[in-house]
Amino acid sequence: AKDAGRNNFQFYAHDMNSRALDRLKLESGLRRALERDEFVVHYQPQMEIASGEIIGAEALLRWQAPGQGMIFPGDFISIAEEAGLIVPMGEWVLRTACTQKKAWHDAGMRAPMKIAVNLSARQFKHQDIVKVVSRVLEQTGCRPEWLELEITESVVMDNPEAAARTLQKLSDMGVHLSIDDFGTGYSSLNYLKRFPINSLKIDRSFVRDITTDVDDAAIARAVIALAHSLKMTVIAEGVESAEQLSFLREQQCDQMQGYYLSRPVPAPELEKLLNATSQK
Ligand code: C2E
Ligand code: CA
Ligand code: CA
Ligand code: CA
Repeated sequence: AKDAGRNNFQFYAHDMNSRALDRLKLESGLRRALERDEFVVHYQPQMEIASGEIIGAEALLRWQAPGQGMIFPGDFISIAEEAGLIVPMGEWVLRTACTQKKAWHDAGMRAPMKIAVNLSARQFKHQDIVKVVSRVLEQTGCRPEWLELEITESVVMDNPEAAARTLQKLSDMGVHLSIDDFGTGYSSLNYLKRFPINSLKIDRSFVRDITTDVDDAAIARAVIALAHSLKMTVIAEGVESAEQLSFLREQQCDQMQGYYLSRPVPAPELEKLLNATSQK
């Protein structure tokens, strides 16, 4: 029994070391990725439900590590957050998305009108995000009203006073603000009326069973009613079927995003998609 115990201990110790090692490798990999330009941004279109028009696109980060194929944010964002790397990475995504939107505009493409960029809590707290955003807009020639910043409830709830000031400055600049994953955080509805938020995103976890689960349907309806009564638009994410879309249409949800319309795709593919649906 003693031996077995020791073996177990060695097993776990080894396991922990290799995990720590994996983590270090990932961290240094991410550091190099920035220098070597291994990140790419994919764009997922957002549609206005009533008109069928593509009104926006969300910028989503991908990592093309040589010889490793595409790595998705679920496998590296939390490490990047903990290592503080999300700050330069996030600024890179912002700059790339703004540059892309300006290029589309200059090429005569009007859709997508807005580019949505995710902001992490860490970026929001540890960086003068207002300065970063205004500098990037100026340098890229992207207009503030073309940009939407997606934040989560945790960003807002951490330090509501500081968040309110920051969001107000961004809003005064003309940038749109939306709450991502709405309903999954520990939110106080109180902040919604005090903060200059333009839209709410119904989280994918509520959309998934929207046509079969009465509770999820009720939550989606409530979020839509709440958003509208506060003069916000509401967008459903993770829409994968015609049934989900027709439910959302019936409930007067304004916009949708999801595989049913398109997966996140490289910029040239979004252009093709827009041409095919003869959007302008
Ligand atoms: P998110 O902001 O909630 O983004 C939506 C995620 O849902 C994306 O995953 C997207 O590919 C996926 N998705 C979209 N439509 C569907 C659908 O119909 N079905 C299903 N099953 N999934 C769908 P992705 O790109 O892997 O990103 C995961 C998360 O990583 C994002 O969740 C976001 O929190 C984070 N992330 C991605 N890019 C960035 C970034 O540039 N900065 C920061 N801070 N976070 C990012
Ligand atoms: Ca998002
Ligand atoms: Ca989301
Ligand atoms: Ca999410």
